[in-house]
Amino acid sequence: MSDAGYDHAAVEQRWQAAWDDADAYRTPDDVDDPTYVLGMYPYPSGKLHMGHVRNYTITDAYARYRRMRGDDVLHPMGWDAFGLPAENAAKERDTNPRDWTVDCIDTMRDQMRAMGFGYDWDREIATCTPEYYRWNQWLFSRFHDEDLVERRDAEVNWCPHCETVLADEQVEGEAELCWRCDTPVEQRELEQWFLKITEYADELLEDIDDLEGWPNSVRQMQRNWIGRQYGAEVDFEIKDHGPVTAFTTRIDTIHGATFFALAPDHPISEELAAEDDSVREFIEHEADPEGDEPNGVPTDLTATNPATGEEIPVYVADFVLSDVGTGALMAVPGHDERDHAFAEKMGEEIVPVIAPDPETDPESEPAEGEEPTVPDVSEDAFTDDGVLVNSGEYSGLESEAARERLTEDIESAEEATQYQLRDWGISRQRYWGTPIPVVHCEDCGPVLVPDEDLPVELPEFINTTGNPLDAAEEWKKTTCPDCGGPAERETDTMDTFVDSSWYFLRYVSPDLEDAPFDLERANDWMPVDQYVGGIEHAVMHLLYSRFFTKVLADHEGLEHREPFTNLLAQGMVQLEGEKMSKSKGNVVSPQRIVEEYGADTARLFMMQAAQPERDFDWSEEGVRSTNAFLARLKELVEDFVSNEPDGEEDAIARYVANEIDATIAIAGEKYDDLTFNRALRETQDLTRTLRNYASHTEPHAETYERGLAAVVRLLAPVAPHLAEELYTELGNDEFVVDAPWPTASVDREHVDKRRQLVENTREDVRDIIDVAGIEDPDAIEVVVAPTWKYDALEIAVESDADNLIGELMQESHIREQGDVAADYGQDLQAEREALSMTLGPEDEHDALESAAWLIEREFDAPVSVVHADEVGESVHKNAAPGRPAIEIED
Ligand SMILES: [Zn+2]
Ligand SMILES: [Zn+2]
Repeated sequence: MSDAGYDHAAVEQRWQAAWDDADAYRTPDDVDDPTYVLGMYPYPSGKLHMGHVRNYTITDAYARYRRMRGDDVLHPMGWDAFGLPAENAAKERDTNPRDWTVDCIDTMRDQMRAMGFGYDWDREIATCTPEYYRWNQWLFSRFHDEDLVERRDAEVNWCPHCETVLADEQVEGEAELCWRCDTPVEQRELEQWFLKITEYADELLEDIDDLEGWPNSVRQMQRNWIGRQYGAEVDFEIKDHGPVTAFTTRIDTIHGATFFALAPDHPISEELAAEDDSVREFIEHEADPEGDEPNGVPTDLTATNPATGEEIPVYVADFVLSDVGTGALMAVPGHDERDHAFAEKMGEEIVPVIAPDPETDPESEPAEGEEPTVPDVSEDAFTDDGVLVNSGEYSGLESEAARERLTEDIESAEEATQYQLRDWGISRQRYWGTPIPVVHCEDCGPVLVPDEDLPVELPEFINTTGNPLDAAEEWKKTTCPDCGGPAERETDTMDTFVDSSWYFLRYVSPDLEDAPFDLERANDWMPVDQYVGGIEHAVMHLLYSRFFTKVLADHEGLEHREPFTNLLAQGMVQLEGEKMSKSKGNVVSPQRIVEEYGADTARLFMMQAAQPERDFDWSEEGVRSTNAFLARLKELVEDFVSNEPDGEEDAIARYVANEIDATIAIAGEKYDDLTFNRALRETQDLTRTLRNYASHTEPHAETYERGLAAVVRLLAPVAPHLAEELYTELGNDEFVVDAPWPTASVDREHVDKRRQLVENTREDVRDIIDVAGIEDPDAIEVVVAPTWKYDALEIAVESDADNLIGELMQESHIREQGDVAADYGQDLQAEREALSMTLGPEDEHDALESAAWLIEREFDAPVSVVHADEVGESVHKNAAPGRPAIEIED
């Protein structure tokens, strides 16, 4: 227990036990379409870190909020339990990955309980159990049935340190480093299993448009990753080698193709390398696709430009990639920046063939009958679409029309679509993953393990430098399911992203023994309504999950084609502006914070520190003041309970009641869109108002209690333990977890105007006292403007007449005011653009009167709020709607 706080350990343990006893977070199988709230399941690495705590506090708060709103909620948790770190840790500690992983899971589960996360633990899953991974194997077979699995020789990313193949997504940065160990990645040829995600490229791309509950940044990252481009494939004839196909999105520029380039691993390049030393030297030592500038080497070959018939030189160049397009490129230096840089370096011709379109670029408009202005491309390429020039019969066509015509006219040309997305190589030469359910037979080749023989379970771990499955001789030996002959098991395991591509479906029926998930229930419960996790999963995990969902929809009867309706990518918890990391030694341990201040403090501090998407800095001082806030709230409730007040239902009580309604209305909105920080700020403001109320006067018991009960419930999603404690102290029998969300029937706009008026008025009083140097005011009078000014304002807001004053003067009760009305009319005219309606004179009077106590408290002087007609004109002449006049006696 910390000095200023309360006995958080006792409170938190009491309520955790009570929730457990009551099964408070269980979701029965028979509920109808619960709200599905999910945090990305963690890798069990040993201990929860702050990133986990933030991630799971967000989902927990939202799940609790939805529960209080009356929803059935599904909020499960599990473990992404396969993966390389467990294998490495097991080697280091001379244990095995399973025991190590189970220990980590136990530790982290205890920590999650201590944080008060309300999960349905009956639905817990761990991907490393045969009960789970058998379904990875089963799904692999279903994908195979549907021709979505392929085995092929492939150039793969190989990390020499981890001794494993990496997916493209696991290779990081320009330097191509292993995502786990930062070792530079090498290339190797290996037979690999692929899932054919490219079959779904179009649908994966097009459906992104409908994911309106996802952050735009993530949607754009997925679009870029899929990288669809429309263009054309066209053949260039290379002497002695025949036609070579190039892909281009700009066939309209083909007349400007002044050279041709081949990827270093294009078959022709490899042929040339056998005879030509300079080509071999380039391919083996100089080519650097990641380099800052394009490099290449000339060859003796020429290619025929099919549009011009000209012979153009052929290069082998490192900026041409064999896995993008066709590995061959028609280079148009006048209209492509990279081709331009290369042409300058090699002294190749740069010919402009596109001019700016006069219709979209009026500055370049040619005089009637003249040619368009040919751009100067000697320094820089002109990369926009435009009008063709120097292009024979095609000159004068616009780019788009020219692309169509040229694709039609050039014999070898045809429309083509190209993607950045590659098929998903899932083979890993590692132990701690799902065995790929295949045996290799000398006669039959690779054969699937029949469903009835699944799961193929992992053998005991063998501590070896290579793949432990290769060393498991007994396990490897088997018989062929097809011919009964001797066969060997596949020793590759699956990328763990396979496990996470469907785990959200397993929670629906975690113990089901004859299918990966209960189809009917999944159709009812899916998709996940709110998914929360790190931005680092914006591409791989989310794209693969979408892919699996679509395959399951096409072939297994799932009635949903997208897994996650709303996605929130939470920001980082930093320390002094830097990401927390063990290597930097700037890690704040959640465990220490919980021990010292309690889980409620940790949760509340995090959620009020920033909007969930934003990064924020951990602050020990912020934690302490959060803890102090909770302690003061506890005191406030206890004081009320032990000594119930009996004040009047006066203007102050009305003010407090209004604030309670306003807070409930705003906080609910903010919880809805997961901006917890805003909801919590409102809640803390209301708490302060209640405390001021109690110290200013004897509170009206009913109003005051309603306020306390509202605060407790508004805090319950974020600080659930103390909320339970205080809700009980306020005399409730049920859990606050199951309590109804407080309701308010107020209009947000009214609330905002009322608060603005009060705030501005207090500010004005401060200014006057300050400017006039008043030490100790005797009385403060607040004068609401005369009614005619409100009418004039309304006319000014609604009218679009040029002559506003004239229009105002048509109203007799305004005209009667004479010069004063004319002056006010001029004020309105001057600010006309910015005018908006205020509350009416009665509502303003009421708002100010009920807030008068705040001004009295601040300046220690009596405050009276009056209408203009109760005072002389000299007093009210400065009063305006939204801006009462202020008189101070001293
Ligand atoms: Zn590595
Ligand atoms: Zn066989």
